[in-house]
Amino acid sequence: MNFYSPRDYLLLGGLLTFGLVVGWAFAAVGWGLAWAFGAWVVLQHLEYVRLRRWSERPLARPEFRTDAWQAAADALFRANRRQRQRSNQALTRLRQMRAVTEALPDAAVMLDASGRIDSFNPAARTIFHLTNRDVGIHIAELVRHPKLIEFLRTMKDEPVEFTSPLEEGLRLEVRRIPVAEDRSLLLVRNVTELNRLLSMRQDFVANVSHELRTPLTVILGYLETLQEETLDAEATEALVRRLVGPAQRMHALVQDLLLLTRLESSPSLMDDDRTPVGMRTVFQHVTRALEGLSDGHHEIVADVQSDAAVLGVANELESAVGNLLANAIRYSPNGGRIVLSWYDEGDAAVLSISDEGVGIASEHLHRLTERFYRVDLARSRVSGGTGLGLAIVKHVLKRHNTHLEIDSQLGKGSRFHCTFAPAQLRRPINSPSASAESQATRGKQP
Ligand code: ADP
Repeated sequence: MNFYSPRDYLLLGGLLTFGLVVGWAFAAVGWGLAWAFGAWVVLQHLEYVRLRRWSERPLARPEFRTDAWQAAADALFRANRRQRQRSNQALTRLRQMRAVTEALPDAAVMLDASGRIDSFNPAARTIFHLTNRDVGIHIAELVRHPKLIEFLRTMKDEPVEFTSPLEEGLRLEVRRIPVAEDRSLLLVRNVTELNRLLSMRQDFVANVSHELRTPLTVILGYLETLQEETLDAEATEALVRRLVGPAQRMHALVQDLLLLTRLESSPSLMDDDRTPVGMRTVFQHVTRALEGLSDGHHEIVADVQSDAAVLGVANELESAVGNLLANAIRYSPNGGRIVLSWYDEGDAAVLSISDEGVGIASEHLHRLTERFYRVDLARSRVSGGTGLGLAIVKHVLKRHNTHLEIDSQLGKGSRFHCTFAPAQLRRPINSPSASAESQATRGKQP
């Protein structure tokens, strides 16, 4: 490859010719040529100095007098620009990776070959209470758990699960991802909620199986007796009648389960689903439907003082009020007074169902809306409860943007109530916001 360009040779040639002519004129051709060559060397040196200076800050394209140096500097400039672009890309990728690990909900801790902390993300700060001062410290010195120590010693690929020694009840799942020969990434996931949901699901399946097995066993027992040919017509009829109770129980349980599943799968109402529902009508339907349960043994009073209608789903609201009234009947002694009321409280309206029944001890109150939670299992079964009533009420009210509140005193009675915000209500135009009306029903006459 030729380093000098024709222009450079022309310059060198020009200098030498000039030196030759001047030297010839002064009868010192040798000195003339030596001066011309010296000038060429000085020019090369100046170009070299220029290149050195430029190389300290090689950002802009350099300018040289000779093509040879210009070409060399241009090549350096292009190589340098390519290098800068590559390192910028690498930096961007590194920043993105960093942003990803920082946004990870799981804790990520980079360990060196001996298990010392190299770096970690914000989630690791929270889960393992790490600070910048912990870099360089062995992870097992900070999170002392035999399972983690064993896991780090054997460096198994399968994840390990243990309860955090740093926070009570916090279940952690740790897995290792080899990153390079001398680095590995410890990924730590908080599985407390997942474990809780799994055990809830197991409990739920066990509860449903148990609830269904009890009436099913009774039905099977009666059916076996019915197969005996010695039974007369009267005994057969009595047995068939006894089959109805457990069959109805199973039916009620399946119905409640289906309803609960439907409510849970869509926690909020669509605007199209909402229609104005009058609480007076709801009370009438519900008291009529539950006449049989009370069988005239309770004084059921419907007290409607508000003219507001709830924007919601009528059959869901009837199901909620029905479950609350059924409970009030089941857990009240004969002669007990039960009041269903609907009244204004400022711009809001309150739905309340109160009874003078057995009441509930305060330690049970926060768990009452859990599925299959019963204060008195035997009493609930005998009275035909499925254990799902208050769970249904909770979900219906949630879909109507309100929540159940319970006041109760053991041996004195209970009050189940909820408040509907103005946005959840429709009031008649030009109507007094509260038209007092009280309607009392005794026993079978709602
Ligand atoms: P159940 O079908 O057993 O009534 P619920 O979910 O409706 O199931 O109620 C859960 C538990 O709450 C009941 O088993 C009962 O112990 C208690 N409970 C509900 N309502 C009342 C009430 N009005 N008075 C006393 N206890 C009640």
